[in-house]
Amino acid sequence: MKKFYSLLILFSVCCYSQQEPIDSGGGGYHFNNGECLSEAQRQSIFTEIQKSRTQLEQANILKRSPQIVPHPLFIWPVTKSPSAPYNNVWSISNYVDHNPSFPNQVQDWACGDRTYDTSGGYNHKGIDIFTWPFSWYMLDNNQAWAVAAADGVIIYKSDGNFDRNCAFNSGNWNAVYIQHADGSTAWYGHLKSGSLTSKLVGETVSAGEYIGVLGSSGNSTGPHLHFEVYNASNQLVDTYLGDCNTWTSSTDSWWLNQKPYLDPKINAVLTHSQLYNFNTCPQTESTYFSDNFPAGAPVIISVYLADQLANTSGLIQLIRPDNSIAVSFNYDFLGFYYAAYWYWTYAASTFNQAGVWTLRFTYLGNTVDHLFNYGTLSNTEFTNRAFEVLPNPTENTVQIQSKNNFKINKAQLTDMTGKAVFSTSENINQIDMSVFSKGIYLLTIESDQGIFKEKVIRK
Ligand SMILES: [Zn+2]
Repeated sequence: MKKFYSLLILFSVCCYSQQEPIDSGGGGYHFNNGECLSEAQRQSIFTEIQKSRTQLEQANILKRSPQIVPHPLFIWPVTKSPSAPYNNVWSISNYVDHNPSFPNQVQDWACGDRTYDTSGGYNHKGIDIFTWPFSWYMLDNNQAWAVAAADGVIIYKSDGNFDRNCAFNSGNWNAVYIQHADGSTAWYGHLKSGSLTSKLVGETVSAGEYIGVLGSSGNSTGPHLHFEVYNASNQLVDTYLGDCNTWTSSTDSWWLNQKPYLDPKINAVLTHSQLYNFNTCPQTESTYFSDNFPAGAPVIISVYLADQLANTSGLIQLIRPDNSIAVSFNYDFLGFYYAAYWYWTYAASTFNQAGVWTLRFTYLGNTVDHLFNYGTLSNTEFTNRAFEVLPNPTENTVQIQSKNNFKINKAQLTDMTGKAVFSTSENINQIDMSVFSKGIYLLTIESDQGIFKEKVIRK
């Protein structure tokens, strides 16, 4: 006969005492609307495009009657530069307005009000994709790019206009206009001055190819891309398929993979040495980015969301170098925001282990890790002990010689302005410096034994 034992298992609920933040805060970020392009500007662009189109047709670069092919299927026209320390760099402030009445009578493709009109009768004619977080910092450091949504021919370009506008004005924007094989065109507006693709009018571009850096040229209240599309008959197209897009110019989606109307994303998970300040437009934000903290320093941890959904929550964790959990809590996001930021400041006492810490943020099934170094050896000490960059200075290749055979998870080279000029997540052992201009660079290595920095001089 079997004996049955009833086991009384006592779960203990609490098991470690968790440190509380010494400061916290955050909120939504509101991207102001402004009329991206006046009607007079739009008409003069049409005129210039038509002039250019005629010339390109006469030169046999463009076909006189567009090919009978289906409209293009677009890929997303905004991406981050490969070295940018974010997960994602954009959110949407406005879609196309389908309600012809005005003012304040708006309807987007999904029957929502994520669009705008003006008292002058302008109904928004494109998609506004704004950069988030640290828009001006991204502009300064060329971190958010417009890329061609489809293959095509550059049909017109305008550049050289001031790109740090904060309010409605009558200035012209910097823009690239691309015609596709079916005769439709896509407009990429508000770009940074001098950042436009070096390709000339008449040259072809491929989907995904660099077009320019997102800026705030023309009628703009901050860095964003205004993406406007016309079909071969010059009828405005709303690229989204939805219940409230009833236009005959767009009876199906123009996207290869149409993104959902609400599209929550973790844009960044970062650590800072001081609380950042978004400052006043158009002043560049004070970011206080830091991935290296000396012993005794507090750490500000922060998460940045696009389309934060109301009544959701996220899991924030600080994980020690030995993989034990120092801090773990759920944070409730109450409101809906196109863009939001949340921060928590932890005192030095939280960081009771030296080495590489992980800040982990999980939101709606997605997890992003951010690594930072806390309280380890000084850079000089480490340089003497663990790796050497030789020869330094150099005109050519530098060898990265590890003394402890550590594995490099990421190597990044930044110039004196803090702009990343090279980045890789391969376990490299050399960098070709000859491709960079003369000057001093900072090499940052994230390895399995810590994050380390070394000056590299290109002579
Ligand atoms: Zn716009």
